[in-house]
Amino acid sequence: MQERPRSLLVQIPCRAASLRLTLPAMPITRFAPSPTGLLHIGHAHSALFAQAAAGSGGTMLLRLEDIDLTRCRPDFATAIEADLAWLGLGWPLPVRRQSEHFGEYRTALERLIGRGLAYPCFCTRSQLAAAMAAPHAGEPVYPGICRALSPAERADRIAAGDAHGWRLDVAAALAETGPLEWRDLDHGLVPATPLDGGDVLIARKDIPASYHLAVTWDDALQRVELVTRGDDLFAATHVHRLLQALLDLPVPVWHHHRLLLDAEGKRFAKRDRAPTLAAMRAAGISAAELRARAGFPDQPAA
Ligand code: GLU
Repeated sequence: MQERPRSLLVQIPCRAASLRLTLPAMPITRFAPSPTGLLHIGHAHSALFAQAAAGSGGTMLLRLEDIDLTRCRPDFATAIEADLAWLGLGWPLPVRRQSEHFGEYRTALERLIGRGLAYPCFCTRSQLAAAMAAPHAGEPVYPGICRALSPAERADRIAAGDAHGWRLDVAAALAETGPLEWRDLDHGLVPATPLDGGDVLIARKDIPASYHLAVTWDDALQRVELVTRGDDLFAATHVHRLLQALLDLPVPVWHHHRLLLDAEGKRFAKRDRAPTLAAMRAAGISAAELRARAGFPDQPAA
């Protein structure tokens, strides 16, 4: 087998500054949709972006982020694979389904709990809605209600069977890791500021993981070297960088891309019933036309 060139020093135009970044020559990238609905053209853009970022020598993997057992459905998962194949995408390794790996996430979670870096959160949905509704700039942030509980109170409530998730104690975690940064092909070298997002949930009440923990674990496990995803997840990367440092995981490069917008300048979203790939296909739109509408027109043959 041909040896993979380890890395290539490339000059990349960045939004922040022109930076020299070390990027694998033939990177492993991934597309990681959640099967909570059918794919729309915004997803097609992300998937094609991941494949283009892998380039002809790299590898794009597919991961189904299906930890939410109430919202994810096997028929959506099947449809996602069919839509991607119709679009012309392939992935050389078996699809990783997060719902099959709860044991791994639990082990990672227990490492953080054991080091005093996570605390149980007993807040109910309505408590959270009230606590996080206070007007302030930016996204709502958890105000640390359960961080204030004493160890005895926590133990009593757990022993009493009170439902609880787990939150990362971000300040305590940062005190261990010290300042962190990460590299983004569009934004340049970014200082990690996970405190801005508050103590995020790393395990939900019903499962031993959250998006943040599972995505960080899996990107490392799948040896993803270049994480491509939409700008809407940019803030999450600050948390992921912290989790990587805490769990001693390799650090990829990121490329957050701008979101594809509809004719009114709004992002495509499942909740707004964006037209699905399946519906467009049924309406007779070809895969080539769809790729072009998603921003990746086929290259004319040389
Ligand atoms: N599963 C996430 C989503 O569908 C994407 C996760 C990621 O790319 O990091 O929005």
